[in-house]
Amino acid sequence: MATKHGENLIKMTRMGAFSAYLVREEDGFTLVDTGLPGSANSFLKTADDEGLPINRVTLTHAHDDHTGSLDQIAGLVPDAEYLWTARTAQFLSGDVSMMENEAQAELKVTSSVRSTKATQIIQAGDKVGSLEVIASPGHTPDHIAFFDTRDGTLIAGDAFVTVGKPAVTGIFRWYFPFPTMATWHVPTGIESAEKLLALKPSRLAVGHGKVVENPADVMQAAIEEAKRKM
Ligand SMILES: [Zn+2]
Repeated sequence: MATKHGENLIKMTRMGAFSAYLVREEDGFTLVDTGLPGSANSFLKTADDEGLPINRVTLTHAHDDHTGSLDQIAGLVPDAEYLWTARTAQFLSGDVSMMENEAQAELKVTSSVRSTKATQIIQAGDKVGSLEVIASPGHTPDHIAFFDTRDGTLIAGDAFVTVGKPAVTGIFRWYFPFPTMATWHVPTGIESAEKLLALKPSRLAVGHGKVVENPADVMQAAIEEAKRKM
């Protein structure tokens, strides 16, 4: 299912709660995350229905529900740019070792190896089209978010989950436990959530759950809950 949010954002959801996004630019779409396996054709059709190609593909983090259709998309759109961080590239190559500057916590879930290679390595502060890359580790060490500098839309990946009552990932929700079960380090995630709130986003879009307009209050409440339960 595809839904539009504002001028530039199209949310594409499978199985009710697994979302990827198309972000409209003048020359085509940026695909943020590649969803579950088997999503490629429906993502391409959504872009095609809008009359624009997918010319950039980027990732919030290396978990399988965000990289599931990466290799399939790369096969269908080989000329697009493929952009992710060096840390994500490391996970996608099968290397699960921790870096010295990270919390030495256990990875609950490891990522599947993907054969697609980045055409460009990105880091915090870089731009992918109109999207500014924001480091937001916690759910995973490699996690990044994307802030659309045109209209304040924040694509927060799994830094927040908005299935039911919005939460910082790692805070348990019985009706959708998967992101919590897969979360690496909650204190780091709370720091990142505060950094994302400080951007004053106009709209919060996440990997799992509804798009929230004017999200400051729900982000603040989720952060406070996370601090209480940490
Ligand atoms: Zn996820």
